[in-house]
Amino acid sequence: MFCSKCGKETADNAAFCASCGASLAGGQPAKKKTQLSLAAGIIDIAAGAFSIISMLGMAIFLFVMFGTEEEIPFFVVFFPLAMLIPGIIAVVGGIFALRRRSWVMALVGSIALIVTSSLLGVAALVLTIMARDEFE
Ligand SMILES: [Zn+2]
Repeated sequence: MFCSKCGKETADNAAFCASCGASLAGGQPAKKKTQLSLAAGIIDIAAGAFSIISMLGMAIFLFVMFGTEEEIPFFVVFFPLAMLIPGIIAVVGGIFALRRRSWVMALVGSIALIVTSSLLGVAALVLTIMARDEFE
């Protein structure tokens, strides 16, 4: 057989071309199968879901404390929402990371997670950046 890269003749059973070192196994070299996007996705979803649940609890608490006042204080609405929305984005981004669909969405989810749970968000962000090659 002949090397598909350099054209030199090689042994029929050779795995690599003796002249140029190209793989003769046929086709593209297999994609690296790492699990970084899986880890990032799990962190995004777990921590995102946790912040959603804890912020719902905080929202209920704040409304019980301040909801009966004539003018509901701004932070009663703002603070839970400011934590709830990044939590939702993190969960959505985590789903994209698990399915390896959209790296940008996974990245956005990890960044959103930094808002609600800083250390886990940074970990998810680093994992997502390292998992760049795993996405379609
Ligand atoms: Zn060759």
